[in-house]
Parts: sequence; structure tokens; C-alpha cells
Amino acid sequence: MIYLDNAATTRLDDEVLAAMLPYLKNEYGNSQSQHALGRAAAEALVCARDEMAARLGCDSGELYFVSGGTEAGNSALKGVCLARGKGHILVSAIEHPSVIQSAKDMGKLGFEVEFIMPDSRGVILPESVRRAIRDDTVFCAVMAANNETGVIQPVREIGEICKSRGVFYYADCVQAVCTQEIKADFCDGLGISAHKFYGPKGAGALYIKSGNGISPLISGGRQEKGLRGGTVNVAAVVGMAAAFKKICQNKAVYNQSVAQIRDYFVNRALTEIEGTHLNGGGEVLPTHANLSFDGCAGEILLVALDLNGVAVSTGSACSAGATEPSHVLTAMGLPVERVRSAVRFSFGRHNVIKEAEAAFEILKTAVNKIRGKCALPIGN
Ligand code: PLP
Repeated sequence: MIYLDNAATTRLDDEVLAAMLPYLKNEYGNSQSQHALGRAAAEALVCARDEMAARLGCDSGELYFVSGGTEAGNSALKGVCLARGKGHILVSAIEHPSVIQSAKDMGKLGFEVEFIMPDSRGVILPESVRRAIRDDTVFCAVMAANNETGVIQPVREIGEICKSRGVFYYADCVQAVCTQEIKADFCDGLGISAHKFYGPKGAGALYIKSGNGISPLISGGRQEKGLRGGTVNVAAVVGMAAAFKKICQNKAVYNQSVAQIRDYFVNRALTEIEGTHLNGGGEVLPTHANLSFDGCAGEILLVALDLNGVAVSTGSACSAGATEPSHVLTAMGLPVERVRSAVRFSFGRHNVIKEAEAAFEILKTAVNKIRGKCALPIGN
């Protein structure tokens, strides 16, 4: 299989698995237990937290282990808003559903929720944030890079604006962290998820700048300083720290090689398949490419590619049995046809140029077939 869906999840790195195995086997203690096995688990969490905090440029006490990006976004948005009690919430219209839905949940509790629209490239302009902030704004969420388009957002400028107005700024760094240098100094909160950078599923980290009150979302024991009750998944956290260390090393070299493979694929698609459009502009992650193909429904193309061994995603979400068009591409103002025909190709560390070549040929055949121009049967 040619896996071009690395934005959805990545393959667990072998070294990460090796780091996790002792904690899945012999070192199985509960990190809250007082005995030697428990202390060993607690010590592993201390090491993982210290190491990740140092790389993120924050204090260990500001970093909480959570289950992933969804929980990080929920905890930051709901936790901060519930601690404040009332006010105005700003959320970019291109956020991940975990953030958008969390804001809507707060809307039901009386908070006023306002969405900030991107420009046609998919960029949230700092000026739009500046204009939208009010005296009663308590929270602002603009992600570091979008999951569907890979478009990188001007988070430093947005952070400055929020800081100058005393607004808590949350940056969802789930997609960006694998390839971008992420330091916690530009925001009040950020979230990352291990399975997006070759770590295990079910592990993530949430940074909350000290001094910010936040209500716990999961009540229980004193784990994670009382912010998140529940026995910590030590093996997953150890794996996340190992994966994080690995992606922080050789980032530039890796980014260059993955961008080369991605660019090769995109350039061929744009030049050799008529009616192909690149969605998203400005600065884009080296891993992502969102393409629309005139006359091809995204879901049909996805199935055709899958039948031929190429794994990709569409931006659309299935809710209640109906396929919703991508809220991201829609917010960018793209015509409905282009939104419906969008497919996300996302490249990763394990991809090689030969896969991009093969995937391109399969894509070209599939698009032509769907457009009714080619007699080759899909699936053979
Ligand atoms: N935020 C972004 C930008 C994402 O792309 C994702 C996952 O696709 C999430 C949050 C949710 O992360 P998780 O799967 O770890 O809950």
C-alpha cells in the first residue's frame, strides 16, 4: 500500500515502540503507587515531561499529559472558559472539529461564540483577529497549521495581539509540530498529539502557561495536578516523548526530503492532469497537498485510489450518515464543486519518491476513468 494519509495518522516508529515495550511488560506500575514499581512509573513520567517541556521551551509544571489533540483542545477551551465564567470566544472557522465543537458547547452555556474567517488562501489574517477582539473576549483559538490544507498560520502575530488585549490564546499545533519548530513562548496554551509524529495513539500534551486558571475536565484523582483524573498511560507517554525527541532532530533534512516528494507529486498532477487545482496558499507544511479535480467527486476518487492501493483522505466529514463538505475549504470561499472534488494527500517520513511516481500514475488513471475518458477498469 502507498500510504499518503500521514495527516490522519502516522506509522509508529520502531525506536518509539522499543522505548515503550518495557512499560507495557515488566514496568507496569501505577505512577500513583508508593512502591518501587509505582515509583519507576512516576520517574518515567518525570523524565518524559522534563524532556518534552525543555524542547517546547516551557516549565515541566506547565505541561499536562492528555489523550491527544481532541482532549487538548477541549481541555484548553472549556477549561479556560469555565474558569472565567462568561464572555466572548473567538475561534477561527478552519479549526479542527474538536475546537469548533467545544466552542459551540460553551455557546450553549451562555458564552458568545464568534468565528473568524480565513482569506481565500486559507490564512487567518492577524488583522481579522485584532478587529474581532472585544473587551469581554476571554479566549481565542487559531491553529498553527490547518489539517486539511497544511496552510501555516501567522501565530506569532496573532499571539502578540491576544497578549496585548489580555486574551488567552490557544494554538492547536497537532499538524504543525511534526515539521515546524514549535516553542510555547507565542501563546498561552497549545496542544500536540503523538500519533501525528510517529508516536502511539492515545497520547498528547497540553501546555497551559502558568498563572492561567483552568477548570479540570476530568474529575478524579490528583493525576496531572488535578487537571485530569485517571491512571496515566505511562507506556504511551514514554513513547510520545521518544517520538517527540526524534522529530525534533534532523527536522530540516527531513522537511526538505518530504517536500521534494510532495512537490514532485503535486507538480505532475497540476501539469499532467487537466482541471487540477491546488487548494490553499501562502506558506504550507512540507507534508500536505490538497487538490481538487474537476468532474471527480472526492469520495469516488478516494475509493478508486484505495482499490488501487493508495490511501488518502477527503476533507469531508461523515456525520449522521451524510457527507458534509469540508468546512475549511467552504470557509475559504471555494466553489462548491471544488470543495466536493477535494482530496488530501499527506506525505511522511516513510514515503519514497518511487511511491509518489506510482501514486501519480494511479491517480491519473483514476481521474481519467472517473471523467469517462479512459477505458481501463479501476481496481485492476
Ligand atoms: N487538531 C488537529 C489540527 C488535528 O488534525 C487532529 C487530528 O486529526 C486533532 C486536533 C485531534 O487529534 P487526536 O486525533 O489526537 O484527538
